[in-house]
Amino acid sequence: MKQDHSYKPRSAWNNLNTRTQRGEVTALAERYMDFLSSCKTERETTDYVCRRLREAGYGDAFAGARVARDLRGKAVFAVLRGKAPLKDGLDLIAAHVDTPRLDFKQRPLVEQVDVVQAKTHYYGGIRKYQWLARPLALHGVIIRENGEKIPVTIGEKPDEPVFCIADLLPHLAQKQSDQKLGEAFEAEKLNVIMGHSPKTRGRGKDDKSSKEDDGKTGDAVKTHLLDILHAKYGIREEDMITAELQAVPAGPARFVGLDRALVGGYGQDDRICVFAALEALLRTKPGTRAKALIFWDKEEIGSDGATSASSRFLEYCLESMLPETGPANRLSELFLNSRALSADVQGALDPDFQDLHEKQNAARLGYGPCFSKFTGSRGKYGASEADAEYFAFLRGLLNSRAIPWQAAELGKVDQGGGGTVALFLAAYGMQVIDFGPPVLSMHSPCELTSCADLWYTVEAYKAFLEA
Ligand code: MN
Ligand code: MN
Repeated sequence: MKQDHSYKPRSAWNNLNTRTQRGEVTALAERYMDFLSSCKTERETTDYVCRRLREAGYGDAFAGARVARDLRGKAVFAVLRGKAPLKDGLDLIAAHVDTPRLDFKQRPLVEQVDVVQAKTHYYGGIRKYQWLARPLALHGVIIRENGEKIPVTIGEKPDEPVFCIADLLPHLAQKQSDQKLGEAFEAEKLNVIMGHSPKTRGRGKDDKSSKEDDGKTGDAVKTHLLDILHAKYGIREEDMITAELQAVPAGPARFVGLDRALVGGYGQDDRICVFAALEALLRTKPGTRAKALIFWDKEEIGSDGATSASSRFLEYCLESMLPETGPANRLSELFLNSRALSADVQGALDPDFQDLHEKQNAARLGYGPCFSKFTGSRGKYGASEADAEYFAFLRGLLNSRAIPWQAAELGKVDQGGGGTVALFLAAYGMQVIDFGPPVLSMHSPCELTSCADLWYTVEAYKAFLEA
């Protein structure tokens, strides 16, 4: 018989044929959606991860068999030790917990024409128009002068109000529709409507608030809203200056499509990888080598800052763990012996913008988690590139377990590009490659992922940790 030596990618759904298998895929997606719906900030995600790790017996002590440490509630590192000494290296999965959003400015509240808005400064790569005229929720923390932390979540429960940025009515949008996209939507107009009614007044007082003004003026509404905030949280306007308040798309993640085969929801870049990596670790038994997770913050703004991939957090944790396995052990040895997955999503081939992709090297929804041998752009500039040996090792590993996978790069050459945390791990001399599921509508308020890809991403990460 004639053999076919060509490579053809195959849909992961073809591997999930039975009703039982599809049922398990759906059940996993449902748990994933619960996670997405309740974890919309880096802090909420870190809290969730830490809680599940604690429940699984992970503790603070660096000498323990299961170690979990967070850094200021925004980054987390976990290790499941193996029989081999730590210097023999880690099998490490790295992902990021932050997502694009609208951060409140330090002095957010402004009243114009009897409407109070919160001024924002966007975080990460957003398409500004996607945030207009849609329900937004407010998540974050307010810290009192005495250090007391007040968590804030408004707009997620059905009986809670939401917030909204108004958009221009089409009737008056003629000038705007002739503008370039980048000019038509201004960052300084991403102002979140917080309320519009003045306080009810006692009888017999002057009606100052209804006085005709020139559109700038009064603060009767702002005063009212500050009263509401004071009653609910016991805070004053000054407390907002030091707070971290984030406007995010309101509402839960949902199945998308008649077949319920897609998950639609905010923040799947990169929380799908956080969820999948955590699931994989929690389902893995201790083995020879140490298995580890690191989840960082600030990836969406270039990985700078204390809780980001460029911080020394990972190094500090390992430095604290290393002496217990022998005084002569060196951190450099540990790093050079480590293997890592930079677990981040890949842009899926968009059915309506296929021309922006080079289709043979584009990620397809439902074709399994996707390797990106390198990131960067324009002649691989800024790339971390995995070596052929490591890539082939992983390919063999997945094939041996019949786990579907694909390989792609983001868009056509010279079309654009993006980065991940891979280069920060590569800097330690680790073997590292980007590997995660494709996402359609990435960075939008409703990102789309395939339930089959979620399923096989968990399987693939588990295979990696068990290798
Ligand atoms: Mn990402
Ligand atoms: Mn991103």
